[in-house]
Amino acid sequence: QTTLKSSAKDPYPDWKAGDPVPYAALCTTFSKIELTTKRLEILAHCSLFLRQVLRLTPEDLLPVVLLMIGKLAADYAGVELGIGESLIMKAIGETTGRALKVVKEDQQKIGDLGLVAAKSRSNQPTMFKPKPLTVRRVHEGLMKIATIEGQGSQQRKVDGIKKLLSSADATLAKGQSVDITQDKGGPSEAKFIIRALEGKMRLGLADKNLQVALAHAMTVHDASKDGKEVPSEAELKKGEETFKAVYNELPSYEVIVPTLLKGGIWNLREVCKLQPGVPLKPMLAKPTKSIGEVLDRFEGKDFTCEFKYDGERAQIHFVAHDADEDYASTVAPSEGKSERGTSNIFSRNSEDLSKKYPDILAKLPDWVKQGTKSFVLDCETVAWDVEKKHVLPFQQLMTRKKKDVKVEDVKVKVCVFAFDLLFLNGEALVNKSFRERRDLMYGAFEEVEGEFSFAKFGNTREIEEIQTLLEDSISASCEGLMVKMLDGVESHYEPSRRSQNWLKVKKDYLSGAGDSLDLVVLGAYYGKGKRTSVYGAFHLACYNTSTEKYETVCNIGTGFSEVLLQELYEALSPLVIDRAKPFYDHSTGKNDQPDVWFEPRYVWEVKTADLTLSPRYRAAASEFGGDGVHKGVSLRFPRFIRVRDDKKPDAATSSRQVAEMYRKQEHVGKNKGPSVDDDF
Ligand code: ATP
Repeated sequence: QTTLKSSAKDPYPDWKAGDPVPYAALCTTFSKIELTTKRLEILAHCSLFLRQVLRLTPEDLLPVVLLMIGKLAADYAGVELGIGESLIMKAIGETTGRALKVVKEDQQKIGDLGLVAAKSRSNQPTMFKPKPLTVRRVHEGLMKIATIEGQGSQQRKVDGIKKLLSSADATLAKGQSVDITQDKGGPSEAKFIIRALEGKMRLGLADKNLQVALAHAMTVHDASKDGKEVPSEAELKKGEETFKAVYNELPSYEVIVPTLLKGGIWNLREVCKLQPGVPLKPMLAKPTKSIGEVLDRFEGKDFTCEFKYDGERAQIHFVAHDADEDYASTVAPSEGKSERGTSNIFSRNSEDLSKKYPDILAKLPDWVKQGTKSFVLDCETVAWDVEKKHVLPFQQLMTRKKKDVKVEDVKVKVCVFAFDLLFLNGEALVNKSFRERRDLMYGAFEEVEGEFSFAKFGNTREIEEIQTLLEDSISASCEGLMVKMLDGVESHYEPSRRSQNWLKVKKDYLSGAGDSLDLVVLGAYYGKGKRTSVYGAFHLACYNTSTEKYETVCNIGTGFSEVLLQELYEALSPLVIDRAKPFYDHSTGKNDQPDVWFEPRYVWEVKTADLTLSPRYRAAASEFGGDGVHKGVSLRFPRFIRVRDDKKPDAATSSRQVAEMYRKQEHVGKNKGPSVDDDF
């Protein structure tokens, strides 16, 4: 049972109905969550706290939920924390009257800025007790800090942090005596404010867990309001499924929470539906090694093979001015206003790309048929050679400016290749078959050469024909094929899922090279010879979504030109930090330390010859590291391919995917390759 019984004691007894939610109450819950790794216990603490919020101060539910997942707003709002260590250390020093040097020394020793702040605050004699912080005030304070821009913004951010920290209580909860130098500290407000500023709460409370806890809290709350008994497991499960289905289509707490408060959980599905203006998390594909594997997977079913275009994923949203629907809560600020209507382009990360692609938005009325009043379209934007009328390689697209692009300055033209339609004229299509969605898509848009095309495809089960399609796609500068189920439930659009019903076949897989990985740059080594003034090699990691840690997976020194190394040095050196973050899972061996560590910011695509068990690297260690010799999985002969600007560090290849790739290798269990970790 994940929801504590209604008899369970309130986690924070001092707070009365109507009071703003005390930040200390949230922090007390955070520390309870932090002290366990058991998912059910995490859910129970979280859900009990949310029930208290629902009962006493429901109007604060939204900021509570956002702070729990370490966010200030939905991704498409573009508000992000992730404040660098140097600013935070400055603010800690100035708030507590300690010299920056001393704060830095503490950071060197303790390694966790949250604990450094807690320690600094608790050592500070307080003249007067500050007014207790509320969740709302912390949320507003963080929001201000995140949105400060322009001249003197660094110092103004420091001032904002100081304001929050000086009101923060650093003491521990009643009855708790916790060594402040241990990571599992008490409910110090200072500690959790710092974690929020760093953009990583590290509670093991991923967004998915919060969805379950909130659904359970709401189901129990609704039942108790109606004077019913504690809901059964089956009812809780139903609540959970309802919430998840809604969230998948409309991943925005800003829209969902007010609706929940107004109409309860059972009304949610009716009111909250996919809508233009709120980007969905895209459906993702599984890699396959051969056409034979595709045929095995889709045996007896109809499927389609589409060209896999090599560009940037783009979700285009549009509402015509004369559409019948009214999306009062369309929340994304829209850049694309035209005579026809309002449009947005969102990235794979749900970031607003409208400022990057004003040229697409300007041309949109040419390819949207008159009867098409609103839509959400899944596409790939690809660089286009206007004279020769063909697709250009991905590298061309990368040379485009990322922000504040002016239509008249665009040099690299792009063509939009549409492959799926998720919403049309007021109706969500995600639960229709792909065959129907595709038909509707062909009816709603028209191709304009070099500007808008439908993804090329062939519906066939003949291996020779698939082979020909694959070859054609490669000659057309595509990466290979996307193979998709056409009919039935299996062909529905599954937002945010890496689905078995979408398979990718890239040319590389067929040559045995396997899929590439998207890894986070955690550290670097200075170069040798003529590379001494730049970094010559890098320490990379994958992401463990359960523990929320980055697990090291290889060192890499291959695939970089001199010019690129210079560029990477310039991009990475401002991110240098004093020591590895506490959420870096890395070897502590003396010879395994990179020369510098970085804030986790960049994701790089990397290819590898294969994967091997390693005595040094930590990827998927929980699965493979138990034999006393090996620590985890690592890459053999990794090679840099490109920077992945469209992925955030927590969207990097997951430890589970690394484990899956390792297991899939043909030689696992037969002849393991020698454990060569590095190639430089
Ligand atoms: P993933 O998205 O699976 O994590 P990735 O971002 O590295 O990995 P790929 O493995 O290259 O992407 O393949 C999936 C991507 O291919 C999609 O996210 C989309 O941007 C792109 N794509 C191109 N053509 C199509 C198509 N016809 N159907 C679906 N996706 C396509």
